[in-house]
Amino acid sequence: MDETLNGAEQVLIAAASAFARDTIAPDAPGWEHRRVMPEDRIRRAAEAGLTGLLVSREHGGHAVSMTAMARVMEELSKADMGYAFVLVVHNNLMGAISRAGSAAQVERYLGPMKTGETLGAFLLTEPAGGSDAAAITTRAERDGDGWVLNGAKAWITSAAQADLLSVYAQTDPSLGWRGIATFLVDADTPGIVRETPYETLGAHVMGTGGFRFEDCRIGAATMLMAPGDGFKAAMAGIDIARANVAAMCCGMMRSSLDTALAYVCGRKAFGQRLGDFQGLQWQLADVATDLHASRLMAYDAAAAIDAGQSAVEAAAHAKKFATRAALAGIAQCMQAMGADGFSHDYPLARHLACAKMAQYIDGTTEIQNVVLSRALLKPYE
Ligand SMILES: Cc1cc2nc3c(=O)[nH]c(=O)nc-3n(C[C@H](O)[C@H](O)[C@H](O)COP(=O)(O)OP(=O)(O)OC[C@H]3O[C@@H](n4cnc5c(N)ncnc54)[C@H](O)[C@@H]3O)c2cc1C
Repeated sequence: MDETLNGAEQVLIAAASAFARDTIAPDAPGWEHRRVMPEDRIRRAAEAGLTGLLVSREHGGHAVSMTAMARVMEELSKADMGYAFVLVVHNNLMGAISRAGSAAQVERYLGPMKTGETLGAFLLTEPAGGSDAAAITTRAERDGDGWVLNGAKAWITSAAQADLLSVYAQTDPSLGWRGIATFLVDADTPGIVRETPYETLGAHVMGTGGFRFEDCRIGAATMLMAPGDGFKAAMAGIDIARANVAAMCCGMMRSSLDTALAYVCGRKAFGQRLGDFQGLQWQLADVATDLHASRLMAYDAAAAIDAGQSAVEAAAHAKKFATRAALAGIAQCMQAMGADGFSHDYPLARHLACAKMAQYIDGTTEIQNVVLSRALLKPYE
């Protein structure tokens, strides 16, 4: 597949692969053990050229295709999907600023985001729910030229350390989704309270947590997307996000399969290599089949987006299938490794937690089924 990408994209994918192997993989167990984000956050990823992926060349970015973006994320997720997801969120926000930001926002934010000095976060989900995004209740009320924010956000990636928040807020509840706007707000603005990050099954490297907005006054120039446009943009980007999650699951499955294969070929039981037991061979062959199918689906969705075609169903199929395949397949690889598979000496435990997490982010498995059922039933309306 990489042969279909341009030379610059292939160089980026190789850089992501090397960065995952040499930089993320050695440090990821420690981040999880200490339950922290890296001290230098994404600065080393920025040095490796992995920021600005979706930013136009005019604004100094890489402007890669969706296929290349997904390949980069697949490579990074071989080492740690949590770290990769922090980069996805950051890159998506940079892309949104490049596409929709004012000249002042582009000038102020893209430079420090490119170097990793400023870390971005995406604030849509609220404590009362994430699936029904149009029902958010965080309010943006007019205050002279500017706005006052009140409300709460939950389950925000990078909440522990983010400097720049893209906040989705309702400007007029009577308008429903048409009232939702997006604001670019510095995290140290008075009136913003950063909650303690959550204790979760894994992926602590994401520093996931919440924010409260208590009479937080922001200027008119903070608006990134006008009422209605904010919600539409979030929904427009969702297919890309789902294709990326599917690709990231492929990275974790590949890493788990490679780890399990090396293990079963290096250990003996009952006088032969574990890898010579046909039962284990077939378990791993099933994982390989699911990985192959997941990759085809993930990159089918990415290719449709690159071709300007609708990818709504392709992305929903890919995300649903790949997240299920990853959860089951990683567990199967752990099983083939006996108790060692359960240990943090190997990356599979981290991958397993991230595979579960993948079933929530960018639309739950059930929401993929809502999307797919709607498409199935449409001809019968
Ligand atoms: C680690 C992590 C990082 C995240 N990062 C971010 C982030 O950076 N920014 C952000 O805004 N959000 C983020 N999220 C939130 C994520 O997008 C939400 O978890 C997701 O949208 C689901 O919302 P919810 O958890 O509130 O579940 P709910 O919406 O409350 O759903 C609960 C259950 O009901 C099911 N359900 C809901 N509606 C339907 C329906 N119509 N039909 C059938 N079943 C339904 C759901 O599938 C789920 O099983 C993150 C979540 C996690 C776990």
